[in-house]
Amino acid sequence: MEPFIMREREFMLHLESWERRWPQLVAGFSTRKGGASQNSFASFNCGLHVGDTAEHVIENRRKLACENGFSYTAFTCADQVHGNGIHIIAEEDIGAGRAAHDEAIVETDGLLTDKPNVFLASFYADCVPLFFYAPGAQVLGVAHAGWRGTVARIGPGMVQVMKQTWNIAPEDIYAAIGPSIGSCCYEVNDMVSDRVKEAVGDKASCVLKPGTEAGKYMLNLQETNRILLEEAGILPAHIEVSHLCTSCRTDLFFSHRKENGKTGRMAAFIALKEG
Ligand SMILES: [Zn+2]
Repeated sequence: MEPFIMREREFMLHLESWERRWPQLVAGFSTRKGGASQNSFASFNCGLHVGDTAEHVIENRRKLACENGFSYTAFTCADQVHGNGIHIIAEEDIGAGRAAHDEAIVETDGLLTDKPNVFLASFYADCVPLFFYAPGAQVLGVAHAGWRGTVARIGPGMVQVMKQTWNIAPEDIYAAIGPSIGSCCYEVNDMVSDRVKEAVGDKASCVLKPGTEAGKYMLNLQETNRILLEEAGILPAHIEVSHLCTSCRTDLFFSHRKENGKTGRMAAFIALKEG
C-alpha cells in the first residue's frame, strides 16, 4: 500500500502509518497543488532558490507549517548541495532559511533534531526524500538523496549520526522513502550506473535495468536507498517505500527532468509536537 496519502488538503500527502502510530509526529510531502505560485511554479512551490516570487514561496511554506499545527517561525531548512553533510539542529538554527535562501543552514543535505516544535523541511523535484524517526529517543530527521547523495551514503550517514549522537540502535529507527522519480522514468548513463554498482555491490541487478540504448540504465533510486538503509541496520519491516513517481505524475508533483529544469520544489517535512 502507498505510504503517502492525501487527506482533505490537496497540497500535502501524509506519511499515514507514522502519523497514526505516533500522534505527536507530523511527516509528509507537499504536492504542487493548492498554492500561491504561478506559471511553471504553479502552484505550491516551496523552493526559494528556483526563481519564483519569494512572497508566494513564503506563503506556501507558512501554509504548510501552520496547517500541520506549527508556527511558521519553526520552519527550518538547509542549502542542499547533493552531498552527504548532516547537521544537528541547535537552538539558533530554528527557523533558518525560511524566508531567505542565503540564511539556510549551509551546504547540508541531512537534518536531524531531538527538539520538539522544529518543522524540518527539505526540497525536491525528482530526488529522493528520506525520513527518519526514532520513537524512543524522539529523534527525527530528513535527508535529500539524489543519485549523488545516495552513492555518497547519506542514508547510512543519518543512521550513523543518530547512533553516535544519541546512542540509538539502528533497529530502533524507522525510515521512509518518499515520492521521487521512479525507475520507469529515470534513465542514467554508465557514469552514474558505475557509482551505483560501487555503492550496492552484488545487489546492482536489483536496481539497474537495461535502458533504451547501450550504456544506459533505468535506475531504481528508491530501492538503492532501501538497500543501503537495510545494510546500515534498519529492519526491513521498519522501512516504508513510496511508489509515486514524480515524473509520471506531473499533475501532482514538480519534476525537474520531465519539465526540463524549470519547475518548483516539493517539501518533505517532519516535526514533533511538544508534549
Ligand atoms: Zn515514472
